[in-house]
Amino acid sequence: MAKHATPKLDQLESGPWPSFVSDIKWEAENRAKNADKVNYQIPVDCPADLLGVLELSYNDGETHWKHGGIVGVFGYGGGVIGRYCDQPQAFPGVAHFHTVRVNQPAAKYYSSEFLRQICDLWDMRGSGLTNMHGSTGDIVLLGTQTAQLEEIFFELTHKYNTDLGGSGSNLRTPESCLGTSRCEYACYDTQDVCYQLTLDYQDELHRPAFPYKFKFKFDGCPNGCVAAIARSDFSVIGTWKDDIKIDQAAVKGYVGGEFAPNAGAHSGRDWGKFDIQAEVVDLCPTKCMKWDGSKLSINNRECTRCMHCINTMPRALHIGDERGASILVGAKAPVLDGAQMGSLLVPFIEVNQPYDEIKEVIEKIWDWWMEDGKNRERLGETIRRLSFQRLLEVTEIAPQAVHVKEPRHNPYIFWKEEEVPGGFDRDIEAYRTRHQR
Ligand code: SF4
Repeated sequence: MAKHATPKLDQLESGPWPSFVSDIKWEAENRAKNADKVNYQIPVDCPADLLGVLELSYNDGETHWKHGGIVGVFGYGGGVIGRYCDQPQAFPGVAHFHTVRVNQPAAKYYSSEFLRQICDLWDMRGSGLTNMHGSTGDIVLLGTQTAQLEEIFFELTHKYNTDLGGSGSNLRTPESCLGTSRCEYACYDTQDVCYQLTLDYQDELHRPAFPYKFKFKFDGCPNGCVAAIARSDFSVIGTWKDDIKIDQAAVKGYVGGEFAPNAGAHSGRDWGKFDIQAEVVDLCPTKCMKWDGSKLSINNRECTRCMHCINTMPRALHIGDERGASILVGAKAPVLDGAQMGSLLVPFIEVNQPYDEIKEVIEKIWDWWMEDGKNRERLGETIRRLSFQRLLEVTEIAPQAVHVKEPRHNPYIFWKEEEVPGGFDRDIEAYRTRHQR
């Protein structure tokens, strides 16, 4: 029989979707059944008490978790998020319920042996509840007690050859898509950059020294499988400089119904007879494509690499050969001050080991943001407060037309007197003369 009555939580099991409540109940029963077989190091009742405290929160309309508090492992400032319950007498199993973030491997490739080890570790030293994966990308191990932290850390680092992830005001665990390991559109080796920068920036990852969190994400192409443009302070998104490659015979194959559009993916719609004009040409955001009934052409200068045409006709169109990445900065979720997408900073950069050019941009940004950023201010907010122009100055990147976010509206590049030949006076004089005329 359940330890706590949970009528409100029970309603969350009634929908057609998988329910976290059912999962926690399963774990609570499982632990009770195995209590004499597994050497549990935290109370067996932990998942049952978790349900109890959540039901109480629903009844009271307020949380019963106290604010974090400092808790962690020796030598690290991040990786563990402290959680304490304000009702420890009623729910001793969750008196402490700390979260441990574990650095996921690049692109999340695991061996089944590693997963088994992590699960065994968490059964014994934690609640048995996990979140694969948190929104930053880490493995999230939910709920353990303070005395277990060093033991868990030792096993992760010494036995399983992995490490804690980031939390707090530090570099968060870098994340990448699966890149060249499986994707034909990957413009660079995302996993390798992710791995290398994770190693290079261990200090920033484990010792919080920033104004607030900072995220790197590496997408191999503009399809953006890790959504770098929306979620990371520093997004590296694969792109190419030359032309989209067109196989005109395959284009005709799509038009004639020989190939299913969208790689035959079940997008929940009936494509009917494929209409290249309506499905591809008219949906090109820059209107740079033309279909004359027998030949497809693209004005590549105008193409923004949105991937729509390539995704729709993958046998006929392919990314170019001069591959690299664009760097965008300042994206964030809406914790403070609303959500922001990344802004283009470096239109094209080659991505070659040891990635010094990318690191140079990162480190200039950090130097500026650590100096001028306010406490709990994400990079995107610092840019908005102090201007994109200031960012260009500190990164020593020359302003270009592609930096303009909204043409003919609120231009943010202001010339300084020394940059105007003859100075401002001459310029104002010229304006007056023109105006009088
Ligand atoms: Fe147009 Fe996008 Fe195709 Fe470029 S990638 S040609 S912008 S649809």
